[in-house]
Amino acid sequence: MPLPVQLDDVEKARCTIAGLVIKTPAVRSGSLSLAAGVPVFLKLENRQTTGSFKLRGASNAISSLAREAHARGVITASTGNHGRALAHAAHHAGMPCTVCLSDLVPANKVHAIQAAGAVLHIAGHSQDEAQAEAERLARDQGLIVIPPFDHPDIIAGQGTLVLEMLDDVPDIETIVVPLSGGGLVSGAAAAFKGRKPNGRVIGVSMRRGAAMAASLDAGKPVEVRELPTIADSLGGGINLNNSNTFRMVRALVDEVILLDEAEIAAGIRHIHEADGETVEGAGAIGIAALLAGKLNVSGSTAIVVSGGNIDTALHRQILLGNLPLQAGY
Ligand SMILES: *Cc1c(COP(=O)(O)O)cnc(C)c1O
Repeated sequence: MPLPVQLDDVEKARCTIAGLVIKTPAVRSGSLSLAAGVPVFLKLENRQTTGSFKLRGASNAISSLAREAHARGVITASTGNHGRALAHAAHHAGMPCTVCLSDLVPANKVHAIQAAGAVLHIAGHSQDEAQAEAERLARDQGLIVIPPFDHPDIIAGQGTLVLEMLDDVPDIETIVVPLSGGGLVSGAAAAFKGRKPNGRVIGVSMRRGAAMAASLDAGKPVEVRELPTIADSLGGGINLNNSNTFRMVRALVDEVILLDEAEIAAGIRHIHEADGETVEGAGAIGIAALLAGKLNVSGSTAIVVSGGNIDTALHRQILLGNLPLQAGY
């Protein structure tokens, strides 16, 4: 069976969302190029509208809805960034939007979703519980569910950042991509390997609750306990009845790397000190993998810096070299 998202789907998505998202810069990192011994580029999605790449998938999914769906409204469950992006895209399209969040979602993200005009439901202690609440509300209220990763329009939208990047830096041989539910890496890999069949795709997750890595090891989607992590945007399961991303990750991702909290913190510090960028844990995890000496790179390498929505107080603590152990990390 062919994979659910192909290069031409990502090319179509790029046309669909043109004008709805920013073309973010791909910058060469002097310090990381020196450390790696190959040219290293950073695709800065922390500069994207709403502070993460999630606006790409959300805008593509909303734009792909039929006109008559617009009166019904959309709903999702989110670790924060997808909810914010969907709220923004729905508002732009004039649609009502509801977002279900677990109590693990940081306050800065909760406030941003509210500010974008969505109706909020805080439900349960995990992304899976928030998901169950979203499905219940969708049934009761006739809302359209736009999931955070396991949907072809979401996957195709996320992949558009690779096409943009290859316009700026055509000779990339390896891409390094943060990995949670796998919507980002699935779309990125479909685009990248569609253009470059010999390209390498490396996924990076936190060690604490890496559901996709555990599922790849098991050969099928499995549940892992969700734990607090400074890469909060990477929390949550992949759904036991995953229908797109598990298959795509298994087919297209060459290697998955897992990192400890202290390693992720070092990535956040590095990009702030070297490049002046404010980046959240999930967004810094590719840089962290390189700094930890865990990336096997050959040829020009692009690291996707996926988002910048970090709580200011937490960011300050991390820059000072403190890991917030008291908060259970
Ligand atoms: C959602 C998110 C990810 C992971 O994306 P998946 O499609 O779930 O793998 C990575 N980084 C940031 C900042 C995110 O918001």
